[in-house]
Amino acid sequence: TEACLAAIDGADALNAYVHKTPEIALERAKAADARLKEGDAPDMCGLPIGMKDLFCTKGVASQAASGILEGFTPEYESTVSQKLQDAGAVMLGKLNMDEFAMGSSNESSVYGDAINPWKVDERNLTPGGSSGGSATAVAADLCLAATGTDTGGSIRQPAAFTGTVGIKPTYGRCSRWGIIAYASSLDQAGPMTKTVRDAAIMLEAMAGHDMKDSTSADLAVPNFEAMLTGDIRGKVIGVPKEYRPEGLPEEIGKLWDDGAAMLKDAGAEVREISLPHTKYALPAYYVIAPAEASSNLARYDGVRYGHRAKLGAGDGINEMYEKTRAEGFGDEVKRRIMVGTYVLSAGFYDAYYNRARKVRTLIKKDFSDAFDAGVDAILTPATPSAAFGLGEMSDADPVQMYLNDVFTITVNMAGLPGITVPAGLSSQGLPLGLQLIGRPWEEGDLLNTAYALE
Ligand code: GLN
Repeated sequence: TEACLAAIDGADALNAYVHKTPEIALERAKAADARLKEGDAPDMCGLPIGMKDLFCTKGVASQAASGILEGFTPEYESTVSQKLQDAGAVMLGKLNMDEFAMGSSNESSVYGDAINPWKVDERNLTPGGSSGGSATAVAADLCLAATGTDTGGSIRQPAAFTGTVGIKPTYGRCSRWGIIAYASSLDQAGPMTKTVRDAAIMLEAMAGHDMKDSTSADLAVPNFEAMLTGDIRGKVIGVPKEYRPEGLPEEIGKLWDDGAAMLKDAGAEVREISLPHTKYALPAYYVIAPAEASSNLARYDGVRYGHRAKLGAGDGINEMYEKTRAEGFGDEVKRRIMVGTYVLSAGFYDAYYNRARKVRTLIKKDFSDAFDAGVDAILTPATPSAAFGLGEMSDADPVQMYLNDVFTITVNMAGLPGITVPAGLSSQGLPLGLQLIGRPWEEGDLLNTAYALE
């Protein structure tokens, strides 16, 4: 813990931590030392971790990197962060992210950009997003592991951009209670780590049924680490042809082929499959996610949480709402609220929101058909490119940024577990990742396949 705290203080330029909590960390580290001495140490006893700013942490500012939650210090602890604490993990501080987890580059944060520790020329690169601070902190040794959340790729894309491991478990595996909501039917928490083994250990600590989240599954949490045998003989790996769009960079295609060859060498059967509705996933996601966000973010009204605008004489409650929300939310969040409100409005609901929900069902069915046909896991690239320069995408039109998530979004739409593992370097020398997608609730199997690929 002390070594991490010192490293964090020396790495302010990366802007990974937005709130440092050294007093809390040292106190918990001391308690962990005592437990280790007594010999009743839980799995993560004394392991220093970073916490994405989306998790409510009791007595510690939790702002989802938004101006509207300025000064918000929760009275409660999220279930996942509590479970990690119970498992002995030591929180070092809160990590940078895109505002309300909306973004793929960490550039929409009220705290400014997080910077990828990887660099090949004078340009500063994005660590990806929305869990950009988490990825930066893990890659730069500013913690041993970090929490992330993933609504459309926010764990898996930053993991790919920083050469780290990130798993989004099955929807319902981790409780969402106390995690600031973005799109509730898609949001899931998961670990971001240096290795697959660390991810297995940390996921076990984070997962489990919670009475406070009705969508959390009442299922036993397996010992994921014990399932890491590296033996994948006889497993069937699907390679979906729709994930090789025209214009996919050659090096990404090669990385993917090499990954498939590696799994084959390890004794798996590699099979081409079809997920025919893939091309509709991105547009459908950008209807469903903003719709849910517009509803979730309605609560930030200047009364209950955080920021309230200064009002002029004669301003009433409507002016208070308007000014507070105009000042508190950033541009990307406002764009999502407007899109979401539009697609839910009377007259457009059927044309957009309902249609997107139907598409979502078809995407889900594509995957279950593949699994029913005997496929155990699906291998795809994690991202269409390596990390890009800050400003490079955010200055273009927003759709360019949205396209970053083409390979990860389908997984959230179907509620499946997905993991990104580092798979090599780009021609420029930047990390690239591969994604494995698993059957629902079979994270153990998925982690084991990832372990064989690592
Ligand atoms: N980039 C996607 C979005 O902005 C996904 C973000 C996420 O997974 N939280 O919605």
